[in-house]
Amino acid sequence: ANEQLNRRIEEVERLHQELKEQAIRDPLTGLYNRRYLNEILAREIARVEREKDRLSIVVADIDHFKRINDTYGHQVGDLFLVEIARLSKSQVRNSDIICRYGGEEFILVLPGLSVEAAVKRSEDIRQLIENSVVEYQGKILKATISLGIATYPDHGIDAEDLTIKADQAMYQSKQRGRNQVTIWREEFDRGRQRIPN
Ligand code: GH3
Ligand code: MG
Ligand code: MG
Repeated sequence: ANEQLNRRIEEVERLHQELKEQAIRDPLTGLYNRRYLNEILAREIARVEREKDRLSIVVADIDHFKRINDTYGHQVGDLFLVEIARLSKSQVRNSDIICRYGGEEFILVLPGLSVEAAVKRSEDIRQLIENSVVEYQGKILKATISLGIATYPDHGIDAEDLTIKADQAMYQSKQRGRNQVTIWREEFDRGRQRIPN
């Protein structure tokens, strides 16, 4: 009876862990979800502040994603989401946090990364995606992403401010022709405020 009880306890514990994991993951891509990002970002910033370290936030958005959906269907769009998530994940370290923030928007949290290091990481991801293809019914399909970077403490000191600034920088990448990486600059604040959904 004791052994049976122990097995039952283990089973409940396993299910509990599984549920906890599901609550913080996006089911399509397996990336962390927005809820998890909100939970950990302020904590991560507090930690790098204590350690007198830096942290970069990167917002990435797929270019002309609506076109992909409209031309090939929603399922092919989903295929791109999965592939872009996989490629992005392949470029980050264990300490980095990568989330699906909205429909076709991703946020990377890069603890310890300066502006320059975040640019390098973002460029690597951008180029990898630019040079990759998705095959669908014998067709070779491609997509690109636009990225924006804001760094603690260079550009801001709190989670919400940095996220808005990384998004403003991403929006500049769109404005300047897409498929590029932009670092946040003061002058973007005067432009359109585009807060992610
Ligand atoms: P831009 O380069 O300016 O970002 O253009 P865009 O077409 O990517 O931007 P827009 O915001 O107009 O379109 C985003 C599209 O993403 C619209 C929506 O249908 C699609 N989308 C959002 N979530 C999902 C999803 O889970 N799966 C699929 N297939 N499409 C999605
Ligand atoms: Mg978008
Ligand atoms: Mg888009």
